[in-house]
Amino acid sequence: MTVRWGLIGASTIARQFMIEAIRSQPDGEVSAVMSSNADRAAAYAKENGIPAAFSSLDELLSSCVDAVYISTTNELHLVQAIAAAKAGKHVLCEKPLALNSSDARKIVAACKGAGVVMGTNHHLRNAGAHRAMREAIASGRIGTPVAARVFHAVYLPENLQGWRLSKPEAGGGVVLDITVHDADTLRFVLASDPVEVTAFAQSAGMAAGGLEDGAMCVWRFANGVIAQSHEAFTVKYAGTGFEVHGSEGSLIARDVMTQKPLGSVTLRTASGEEELSFDREDLYTRSLRAFHAAIRGEGQPAATGEDGVWSLAAAEAALASAKSGRAQKIEAGV
Ligand code: NDP
Repeated sequence: MTVRWGLIGASTIARQFMIEAIRSQPDGEVSAVMSSNADRAAAYAKENGIPAAFSSLDELLSSCVDAVYISTTNELHLVQAIAAAKAGKHVLCEKPLALNSSDARKIVAACKGAGVVMGTNHHLRNAGAHRAMREAIASGRIGTPVAARVFHAVYLPENLQGWRLSKPEAGGGVVLDITVHDADTLRFVLASDPVEVTAFAQSAGMAAGGLEDGAMCVWRFANGVIAQSHEAFTVKYAGTGFEVHGSEGSLIARDVMTQKPLGSVTLRTASGEEELSFDREDLYTRSLRAFHAAIRGEGQPAATGEDGVWSLAAAEAALASAKSGRAQKIEAGV
């Protein structure tokens, strides 16, 4: 059976990655797009070969779509996701699920109540590199993990230098944009929940309106691992990376905090260095495949709604710590 998708939001991420990921599924079809502006909806539909264009949520939800992909600005996710669930549509929502974890829990509850599949589009869990790291840790290749470091300071591309830098009311700022991904990826790779965070945030010239464009966080996980992460919109030449250090070895990954299936993972132990091989499937295509399988009743989305609540609770605690100057407990309550 074909899964007919309705796009809520005429967004860059849908154009760059998600439309193709849906179409690459043998049972995937992009049936409609909704924008708040009728002209933009029509132009986007034409540009991307989408049969129907709507400028209201009701119209989209009354159409024949089976699932929605929500990639509007962050303040809109809550209302749109709950309306979609009530209309009986499966929901794949972008991160952060909402502006705070309490609203994110409402989305999860609405989807559960309606009996629809809900996923959070944390693409990095789908990267072969991160899955290889998770498997190496789970199979004991670095002994007991003790510490991790995430390097995710990048330069926000010019075409995205809009609401992320200037609109707190739309959920702008680097913590809701990138720290959520880092919290989720650490949680996935370490297979442990974050319990506490201390963070510093900065506004180093790009963000306005009290928003932050850089953050450094120190995390404690339930399994005892401590981790640090650096997120930024302002850093042009750092490159990205992810390291996990254990009693018997270290995993050192480079260029892996990205939307593409790139990078390398090196295992360093007493025996020397080994490059881990991993699959290079497109991250978003894999995410969609898992979501379609979940609709058929086979397994769960790569990142569930609960995972989205966790990453937002973690980011929320990081923001609270940056504001208060004190460590904050992380309680996802899911
Ligand atoms: P965009 O800024 O491209 O789109 C967001 C909204 O802005 C759209 O829904 C659209 O509103 C409006 N918009 C877009 N282009 C224009 C324009 N030219 N003029 C006026 N309004 C415009 O956002 P992104 O695609 O970067 O991000 C969307 C969501 O996806 C966010 O929640 C973000 O956090 C998430 N994201 C996730 C990624 C991932 O890998 N998981 C990567 C990037 C983003 P309308 O629909 O009403 O037309």
